[in-house]
Amino acid sequence: MSGQTNPFESLQEQVDDAAGAVDAPPGVIERLKNPERVLETNLTFELDDGSLETVRAYRSQFNGDRGPYKGGIRYHPNVTRDEVKALSGWMAYKCAIVGIPYGGGKGGIAIDPADYSDDELERLTRTFATELRPLIGEDRDIPAPDVNTGQREMNWIKDTYETLENTTAPGVITGKSLDSGGSEGRVEATGRSVALSTREAFDWLDRDLDGATVAVQGYGNAGSVAAALLSDLGARIVAVSDSSGGVYDPDGFVPRDVKAHKADSGSVSGYGDTEAITNDELLTLDVDVLVPAALENAIDADLAHEVDADLIVEAANGPLTPDADDVFADSGVYVVPDILANAGGVSVSYFEWVQNRQRFSWTESRVNEELERVIVGAFDDLVDAYESNDARNLRTAAYVVAIDRVVSAYDQAGSWP
Ligand code: GLU
Repeated sequence: MSGQTNPFESLQEQVDDAAGAVDAPPGVIERLKNPERVLETNLTFELDDGSLETVRAYRSQFNGDRGPYKGGIRYHPNVTRDEVKALSGWMAYKCAIVGIPYGGGKGGIAIDPADYSDDELERLTRTFATELRPLIGEDRDIPAPDVNTGQREMNWIKDTYETLENTTAPGVITGKSLDSGGSEGRVEATGRSVALSTREAFDWLDRDLDGATVAVQGYGNAGSVAAALLSDLGARIVAVSDSSGGVYDPDGFVPRDVKAHKADSGSVSGYGDTEAITNDELLTLDVDVLVPAALENAIDADLAHEVDADLIVEAANGPLTPDADDVFADSGVYVVPDILANAGGVSVSYFEWVQNRQRFSWTESRVNEELERVIVGAFDDLVDAYESNDARNLRTAAYVVAIDRVVSAYDQAGSWP
């Protein structure tokens, strides 16, 4: 794990790597490397004992050329201004590669939510929603869940916004629970796109997913759903981990049982008849597919030399440092980049927003069919760009496609004033 790599520098490097293949002047490329605006604020809220606490929070609006800013809100002690800026840029390029009409945004509060009661988290979330109110809106900036946030927080933000605005505006936020205007299939969507893009990659590489071995680092929403769906597609899940360690069984196990074990015990550790392994041991296992599904910078160059997987599918945002990317580009390990592999979450957020605007709900099968169409189409665009641009890896090819779309929207808008 590399604590040194600044994710915002990683994003800027990724844009630079692709910029040469995009027809855009340097002034425009510079625009594509920096957010349009960043809110940095204090949130002061009441603890259960009546005392007050102040924490830092951010919202970065990276690029609005293709539509309203869009992206999640995370609660994590590692949240910084630069992390949020990077994550907002990744959102802009993610929305562009899958062709949904949004720009990129991201927010976060620098806390460990485990330190607070549910009531404290509700007061904090409503305080953040109040600060965000002038920036967000159904057509302006649409937050969503991210690390350590979910339906509950989204419902609170929606309610705070609607109360303050004296209206109903379910499309101001996505990832809500079903009865609050959420969409079928949204919870599984990120993991589903990881499984779909793994399937597409195997197809492209002319390999059989049936019986392929998979290790998943991180067993939150993205990792656990990806494991379950990959197992449904015939893959063998041999190792999974979370922040307290990992479990390994070369014969494979039933991912949904591991999830149930984690729900009961708080961790994947101790599941069934498995061998205990560390996160680094998991990342260096000899497997067909490695799915990093935790946080940024999970694999740096040193660790990349030890990785023994044939294919890496990024469920997390930014799990590889640029140096690690270089190692894999040299060694021929394919990496399906985060901006495509985990784009199912924001794609179904888009479907949720469309349903909210139409006040009409889709069935789960319709959501999943549309999601498959989006991810398969984006994967085809990625492969075309990779094969025709002589890109050094799939990530750079993805950025070429995505940046081209953002630049084209910017150009077509013309200059004003
Ligand atoms: N947080 C998710 C992501 O990183 C989803 C964002 C959204 O649905 O807007 O893609």
